[in-house]
Amino acid sequence: MPSNALIIDDDYDVQLLGKMLLNQHGYSAVTAGSLGELAREPSLLNAELILLDFGLGDFTGLDIIDYLYDLRLNASILLLSSCSKETADHTIEVGKAKGLRMLGFLPKSRLLTDLKAFLEPLKKIPKAPNSTELSTAIREKQLFLVYQPKQNLQQGIITGVEALVRWQDPERGILYPDAFIPLAEQSDLIVPLTWYVIEHALAQQAEWQSQGLHLNIAINVPAAFVKAEGVLEAFDQLIQQSGVSLTTITLELTETMGIECLSYASYVLNALRQHGCQLALDDFGTGYSSLVQLQRLPFSEIKIDRGFVSLMDQDSVALAIALSIIDLGKRLGMKVVAEGIETEAQYTLLADAGCAMGQGYFIARPLSVTALDAYLSEHSHSRLTA
Ligand code: C2E
Ligand code: CA
Ligand code: CA
Repeated sequence: MPSNALIIDDDYDVQLLGKMLLNQHGYSAVTAGSLGELAREPSLLNAELILLDFGLGDFTGLDIIDYLYDLRLNASILLLSSCSKETADHTIEVGKAKGLRMLGFLPKSRLLTDLKAFLEPLKKIPKAPNSTELSTAIREKQLFLVYQPKQNLQQGIITGVEALVRWQDPERGILYPDAFIPLAEQSDLIVPLTWYVIEHALAQQAEWQSQGLHLNIAINVPAAFVKAEGVLEAFDQLIQQSGVSLTTITLELTETMGIECLSYASYVLNALRQHGCQLALDDFGTGYSSLVQLQRLPFSEIKIDRGFVSLMDQDSVALAIALSIIDLGKRLGMKVVAEGIETEAQYTLLADAGCAMGQGYFIARPLSVTALDAYLSEHSHSRLTA
């Protein structure tokens, strides 16, 4: 199967020449002349390689980089432009800092002669990762965590973060969880992967506490992990080693279907809860994260799925569902967190409805520790009172 490539450029000549050259190199190439075209036809972005012009209508290369970053693409991006080398270097640097896979700068005047040199190395990159590679990645510590702030919507204070895993693959660049969590779940790797995340999150928590920062850390744990042998003992040991209190940790569970029947897993969750660990039911309102689970496991938090939040300012059904979940949480004495808040309108609707907490790009993106540090210095957040 040929690889897919996309040329983003409003110059028709470049589109034609680029398409022809890419075809010769075994790519099936499509073109887009504007961001509007991309937005109307998202399937265009289903590409492993993007040739990107610096200017596109009113948008600069940096705007486009932001747009591609928002879409969390794994494509390799080659800047193909008549812009200056300084502009190109800066754009590439910004792209790399965001974790995009920037191949370099190809001036348009050299498209015909130099494209090949950029494409050759790409042929050697295997496409999807396999479980052997993931296992190596865990062993060699190629996984790292980013932290997305969770804000108290009533007081406007950041009180916690959700830890989200990333894979810095030496060849492919940064991989997002969708590219390897399903793989981990199909193999037995989900258990060591989850321990890796917990261990790193606890170490980070110890570091923040030593700086006087008081943030709750939420960690995603799949059902398969809770069902594994010796979870409670291993948890106890890690907690003791790190010196972090379980009361500052939230475990987010999605697919808990079946856990309630397994007396062992349900025992584990109850024991963790009794030691002060918070439990959140993630993606509430979808799939298996259903009402009946609230009755069976000791949840303290409900996360409204981002599918409802992202539509609640446009769609009356999504709004009714989100408001009902907030009401349900209040009646059950559980904290409700809205995830995926992207607009001010959504934020205001939720805050006015009395939703306790929120998370989403409108508040902050998932951030590296350094970026979070900078973010917190400009936004109110909870600190330990000495
Ligand atoms: P999730 O637990 O629902 O995590 C929230 C996801 O939504 C994150 O994607 C986050 O970057 C994204 N997000 C946050 N705010 C917004 C927003 O305003 N708009 C949009 N469109 N998206 C937003 P990410 O990091 O790619 O994670 C995807 C999923 O992968 C997570 O969904 C979670 O189920 C899983 N995951 C992430 N980290 C881990 C981990 O350490 N362990 C396990 N087992 N699963 C993880
Ligand atoms: Ca989550
Ligand atoms: Ca979620």
